[in-house]
Amino acid sequence: MDKNIAVIRGDGIGPEIINEAIAVLDKIAQKYNHKFTYTDVCMGGCAIDKYGEPLPDAELAKCVNSDSVLLGAVGGAKWDTVPGHLRPEKGLLKLRSGMQVYSNNRPAKIWPQLASASPLKESIVKKGIDFIIVRELIGGIYFGKHETKEQNGEMCAIDELIYRESEIERIARIGFETARKRNKKLCSVEKSNVLDSSRLWKSVVTKLSREYPDVELSHMLVDNCAMQIVKDPSQFDVIVTENMFGDILSDEASQITGSIGMIPSSSLGSTTRGVYEPIHGSAPDIAGKDIANPIGTILSVAMMLRFSFDMADEADAIEDAVSKVLDKGYRTADIMQEGCIKVGCSEMGKLIIDNI
Ligand code: NAD
Repeated sequence: MDKNIAVIRGDGIGPEIINEAIAVLDKIAQKYNHKFTYTDVCMGGCAIDKYGEPLPDAELAKCVNSDSVLLGAVGGAKWDTVPGHLRPEKGLLKLRSGMQVYSNNRPAKIWPQLASASPLKESIVKKGIDFIIVRELIGGIYFGKHETKEQNGEMCAIDELIYRESEIERIARIGFETARKRNKKLCSVEKSNVLDSSRLWKSVVTKLSREYPDVELSHMLVDNCAMQIVKDPSQFDVIVTENMFGDILSDEASQITGSIGMIPSSSLGSTTRGVYEPIHGSAPDIAGKDIANPIGTILSVAMMLRFSFDMADEADAIEDAVSKVLDKGYRTADIMQEGCIKVGCSEMGKLIIDNI
């Protein structure tokens, strides 16, 4: 198969982790007789430096015209002082809405080899951690109007939070469908005791549940969910939630599995074309040191092959290789455990390729 992949290396550790992910793709292409063509896309801080904006339209067009997008991460202190509408993260929002990828899927699964890297007690980890957070990605407070202005002699900031029924229904549907393919349990997370948008969310999800009688639906307030994720993560199968709650909960969920560096994600809309990226940011504190964990990005490649390119065997090959490398005791610094062998980013990439 021939596939054109738009590649956004981005900032900080982005270029390092993407190098390893592309090497893995090359190995898959060679082993399974595919042809992957890579189109470089400039987005984030590097695009601000080059073009004065985080994602020029011409760069977005390369993504829209690709078969899928592979993204490292964007952002860093250098661009923290640029005006809000020009920040690197605005490029991310433009990419997501430009590609209409409204569903961000983030698995929180503990690798048995890394059980002791979880900050949770062994008795909790033993019960199992294996759930998916389905996060609405192109609506809510991140896409409302943002304004900072002077009012009555002091500064005042306003962020607008809007959800429409249609936006809630389409993401809830992904939640139900995902649960249907797993253990048939869906937990809808909101803040309906305070927010109107959450009350609408809850009523739309409840109404839709009539189409999914085989899926057990529960509702949870977001503050309780944050607590339950560390108290008893084994209770969750699929969580569906709005943009900002999903952003925060999925970082929390990643940490209980050992490291944010291990978690991949897919963002999909109504076509098979998606955006695939690790859930972490550009980690400027470790950039350029060859110590970043590339596994989240490499597993994002596996998700791309599975969900966008219908290449399940190839995706399995990558995931099996990661498992074998962990079995052999190789660890990057963030997941280092006693008695294991510490390796850098590029060495971890090579080990995974050798095991494919
Ligand atoms: P971060 O995820 O970049 O880093 C948080 C911590 O996790 C740091 O200590 C970092 O060293 C560590 N870490 C992250 N990825 C790692 C990896 N692969 N291997 C080992 N350790 C890893 O979050 P942050 O520090 O809050 O943000 C840094 C920048 O990234 C900011 O500019 C932020 O806006 C941006 N950001 C971008 C994205 C994205 O591009 N999708 C997402 C989140 C944050």
